[in-house]
Amino acid sequence: MKTNRFPILIAAVALLSWAVAVTAQNPGQRAGGAGRAGTQGDDLGFTDTPMLPGLPYHVHDPDRPHPAVVTPASQPGGPPSDAIVLFDGKDLSQWTFQRRAPGGGGGGRAMTDEMRAQMQKTQASLPPLGWKLENGYVEVIPRAGDMVTKEKFGDVQVHVEFQMPENIQGRSQNRGNSGVLLQSRYEIQVLDSFQSPTYADGQLGAIYGQWPPLVNAARKPGEWQSYDIVFEAPVFEGEKLVKPAYFTVFLNGLLLHNHKESMGPMVYRQVAHYVPQPAEDSLLLQNHNQPVRFRNIWVRRLGGYDRPEK
Ligand code: MG
Repeated sequence: MKTNRFPILIAAVALLSWAVAVTAQNPGQRAGGAGRAGTQGDDLGFTDTPMLPGLPYHVHDPDRPHPAVVTPASQPGGPPSDAIVLFDGKDLSQWTFQRRAPGGGGGGRAMTDEMRAQMQKTQASLPPLGWKLENGYVEVIPRAGDMVTKEKFGDVQVHVEFQMPENIQGRSQNRGNSGVLLQSRYEIQVLDSFQSPTYADGQLGAIYGQWPPLVNAARKPGEWQSYDIVFEAPVFEGEKLVKPAYFTVFLNGLLLHNHKESMGPMVYRQVAHYVPQPAEDSLLLQNHNQPVRFRNIWVRRLGGYDRPEK
């Protein structure tokens, strides 16, 4: 009986091809471990490879700095080991409360004399500054000021969770309005946008007054939602803007903004424009006189590539 050896031959050639490919990518494994960088049989780096364009490193350079080791949180959404925890549900020691012009933009920096006079007139009727802390969250008390970090930040990754009241009232911009304002200026809108219409550049996840979110990823009122925001602060040289601010934003895990340029600090019914500012400033949670809740707030300061190893 004749044996068909053709399939065995094919299998042998395939196995040999795979082995060659694997050893080409992992020459160290073939030689049984790491040796001196740049020599054959080394898998910790090479110095006989081409230089990367515009960089002081070879491809697979053994001397290229290794990134810092950061331990992720044990649960998704938790603060990693290098995070600055701003609110863990227990205390507000990292925050202060301050009032700003009613409906004003720019984190209270655009107050006119008229607005200031009006504020002074109504000062007596305002509640004391500060929000309600209970059950692991903090809740906006209407007219009791914005919640502002004591620490100031430049480029950051921000995690914040929020919830609209289950029995939410109102419509459009008066329905669960708050906001996460980077550097007290650049707002990512907080609003109930679950089957609740408003203007697109003012709905949940909008770079307020500039860009609607790529999708409407709103959860129902009463459900906790999460923002993960990467913010690149603007850079000024004296009075001159040399790099605008950029946002990358995820809502409930969905991408809303992908390295989107900001036109300037948040304003209402106006076109935003940049004004010289400090390199770092406070993170601000907006008081829009509606009882929105926040919890689990942390930030990570961001640095660039190839920082020296410690
Ligand atoms: Mg808002």
